[in-house]
Amino acid sequence: QTGDERAAKIPRYVRVNATCWDMEDAVKEFKSRGYALSNPFEHKKGFQKDEHVPNLLLFSPESQWVEDELYKSGKVILQDKASCFPAHILSPPALDSAVVIDATAAPGNKTSHLSALMRGQGKLYAFERDKRRFGTLQMMLQKAKCRNVEPVNADFLTTSPEDSKFSAVTHILLDPSCSGSAPGRTQGPVAELESTEEQESRLNKLAGFQLMMIKHAMKFPSVQRIVYSTCSIHATENEHVVRAALESEESKAGHFKLAPRKDVLPTWHRRGIPEEMNSPDDGESLVRCSPGEDATNGFFVSLFIRESSSSSSKR
Ligand code: SAM
Repeated sequence: QTGDERAAKIPRYVRVNATCWDMEDAVKEFKSRGYALSNPFEHKKGFQKDEHVPNLLLFSPESQWVEDELYKSGKVILQDKASCFPAHILSPPALDSAVVIDATAAPGNKTSHLSALMRGQGKLYAFERDKRRFGTLQMMLQKAKCRNVEPVNADFLTTSPEDSKFSAVTHILLDPSCSGSAPGRTQGPVAELESTEEQESRLNKLAGFQLMMIKHAMKFPSVQRIVYSTCSIHATENEHVVRAALESEESKAGHFKLAPRKDVLPTWHRRGIPEEMNSPDDGESLVRCSPGEDATNGFFVSLFIRESSSSSSKR
């Protein structure tokens, strides 16, 4: 399957930005433009609601959005379905007292999703260490009309979990740089030029950094839920990192475990690779998306929770 053939099978996913308006009004708007609720692969003017992610619509892969007023004004956000899973699974509360961290935020799609789920309430710290990407993040937050986000141009690893600003942080999203962040890198021609050893060494380096990020997140005193996600397909950056995180001192000290499948998008069919985990249940806890097979890009999501926390969410 070529990249173009794969792309033709992925619908254009359009997230209705609930900070600006709701799904009902969005559906009305599209109907008034001549769209009808039907299969977007069969009808150019067909659109559908996604079955897993609320506020996500599917349009034809050929539909054009960049010049659309709804896109330009931030009322809709172009975001692949799999990339909507992390915020949906983290499920931050919509409360004035809520304090949440997006540790690796730019360009900001997941930040604006988190902010919408929080209904603009509480506080969302959005860290981005790269200056140029931080500028993009700021623009994106403005465009998406996020009210409760404080963008911070800093390395998440340099933040002190003991800082009183963060003492009430209960939810952390970690979507760090991975081998899939540069499109075509691991699954395309550049990667094919790499020797196996070169690729392994690059993936191991990334995995070391990703593990450090999870261990740092586990040190925040009130954190109850940590989502770790990548857009990589490699077990080295996914199951192996999660396994090492579960075996770490930080995890033991904080009593973390993987949330059970029933709390992590239970109706999604593709789960983690069981042979790469210490128990079949741990494999079931994880979510994977396979490029070309699931009508999404490649993706991986895990949810760590504290043993003591009684998980009320049924995502
Ligand atoms: N979550 C973003 C979204 O959905 O729009 C995409 C995040 S991208 C995969 C990873 C980002 O994390 C990059 O912009 C990178 O510069 C940033 N980053 C990597 N390590 C970081 C760190 N230690 N602290 C803060 N930002 C970091």
